[in-house]
Amino acid sequence: MTTASTQTVPVAESVAATPGSALKLRGLRRSFGGVLALDGLDLEAGPGELVSLLGPSGCGKTTALRIVAGLQAADEGQVFVDDKDIVSVPAHKRDMGMVFQSYSLFPNLSALDNVAFGLRLRGLAARARRARAGELLELTGLTEHAAKFPHEMSGGQQQRVALARALAVQPKVLLLDEPLSALDAVVRVQLREEIRGLQTRLGITTLFVTHDQEEALSISDRVAVLNEGKLEQCATPAEIYTRPATPFVAAFVGSMNRIPGELRDGKVELAGGVIPVVATPGSPTGGPVTALVRPETVHLAFDDAGPATVVRVSFRGPVTRVTSLLTDGTELHADLASGLAEEFTPGRRVRPLYGPDPVLVLAAE
Ligand code: ATP
Repeated sequence: MTTASTQTVPVAESVAATPGSALKLRGLRRSFGGVLALDGLDLEAGPGELVSLLGPSGCGKTTALRIVAGLQAADEGQVFVDDKDIVSVPAHKRDMGMVFQSYSLFPNLSALDNVAFGLRLRGLAARARRARAGELLELTGLTEHAAKFPHEMSGGQQQRVALARALAVQPKVLLLDEPLSALDAVVRVQLREEIRGLQTRLGITTLFVTHDQEEALSISDRVAVLNEGKLEQCATPAEIYTRPATPFVAAFVGSMNRIPGELRDGKVELAGGVIPVVATPGSPTGGPVTALVRPETVHLAFDDAGPATVVRVSFRGPVTRVTSLLTDGTELHADLASGLAEEFTPGRRVRPLYGPDPVLVLAAE
């Protein structure tokens, strides 16, 4: 800690002392020419909560974030922070901290001056600015890099500076737009854990845009899955994965078998077994369907008269994916504990066994 910093409120304390704000998006609509980017998006993040926006390219994640930041106007809808509608508040008065995919640091300023920059706009005296920026760099593990310019730092370090800069102004809400996607895999995982640690410690309400499902599932309190500008489901990572509300969520998050079957009395009959079905609005009530079944819920038994033949085995560390072909040509993936998978070699006839949990079905494909 620098001498000057002792004259100000330590930033770690001052940021932490700010209670997280509640963020609410209501009926956001936005189109660009003929493209409807947001189609009535509703979403909430509670105080101190990290909510990820997850969805395929073009589903409106960045547009939603930019509208919250005030960098883009909505055609319709409202954004509330602590129940105050901020739609007509200009971006620089919204108290949002933002980190983008590209590091977007000022190339001619040191790490310290980059972090201090936003504080100057807020009218803080030079000494207090440097002190606070120094503390943010300490918080993000960058003290020894304070004097470096962006081109002298790694991507991960630059993104930490961007994070420190966003946090320096004690934002009510932190907005992260794919902040890790330009980094290599190892740094990505490390930095996402650091972001989560910092976010939890500071209790700052955060929206995190990503198209990487593993990232969303691992970092979030809740994950909001978007599709074509609408919210499909917003729930905890475990709920999103184990109880997807819609076939879209089921298919988008994690891998999924699509097995043809016959729906009768709330159960789907498949080659090798019967599974209970979750009824969702608009889903079929009977007849030929496609069942969505997670590979880790499929088990296999050796059976010379079984309806499937092993065609491929792929070792993935703790789990081995055994792929079989059903007699109708459908591929069936089973993720087995590697210790149990050794004897499932190509050519073996097997009978699939399914877990007891209900699955979603689609109209037959
Ligand atoms: P990605 O993961 O690829 O970044 P996204 O989910 O963040 O996608 P958005 O960037 O919000 O999606 O874009 C949503 C839709 O709106 C896309 O079809 C995009 O092409 C369109 N769009 C977004 N911004 C503009 C713009 N300024 N002008 C024209 N079209 C735009």
